[in-house]
Amino acid sequence: MDLLLFRKPIQNIDLGYGITLPIFKGPIGLLSSGGADSTLLMYFLMKYHTNKLVVYTVAEQAKHFTTAKSSAQVIDKCAKLTGKTDIEHRVKYVPVKTAKSVYSKPRLDIIAHKINALYEGMTNNPSEDIGNNGQHNRNPLIKKSIIEYKTHVQPFINVDKKIIASLYKKYKLQNLFNLTRSCETFEDIGLKHCGECWWCKERKWGFGKI
Ligand SMILES: [Zn+2]
Repeated sequence: MDLLLFRKPIQNIDLGYGITLPIFKGPIGLLSSGGADSTLLMYFLMKYHTNKLVVYTVAEQAKHFTTAKSSAQVIDKCAKLTGKTDIEHRVKYVPVKTAKSVYSKPRLDIIAHKINALYEGMTNNPSEDIGNNGQHNRNPLIKKSIIEYKTHVQPFINVDKKIIASLYKKYKLQNLFNLTRSCETFEDIGLKHCGECWWCKERKWGFGKI
């Protein structure tokens, strides 16, 4: 019998703005890029989930491994803000990020019951045209399920960066936001933002600043 069928949220947290955070029992995983969306989700998971949190980060050689550093600093900050210590950070170093390098290890951990759910902070694309990022699964006109395949949880999948910005404000997390990095430039600029790439434009659209 497929044990995945018995994995269900034990609690649903109302975060405001119509967003529900389902909390699964036991160890859970989170994909972290050190960006604004995954970091906000990290904060709420550390605040409300009481078992082990495994954070998965993919660091790309093509982008100077910056996600390894930005993720580490937001984990550190979220842990300080929430008092949580039952955290494990796994960083995979790759030449170029692919869907396989992002999802293969957490999915194996789901199958092996090392984690009971995988959380991802994916949001909708902006409601205004700021250019194309090629990610058609982020279409704001299509309402999506926040839990897919019983174990893939995306609480922010139906909201955009302006709502994420409102949540940072509501929960007084400006200092945490300042440690996040959304930039996807190939230039070697450390943890700064380039201000030119699509992701920097989206951040500016949502938060009114970089
Ligand atoms: Zn950028």
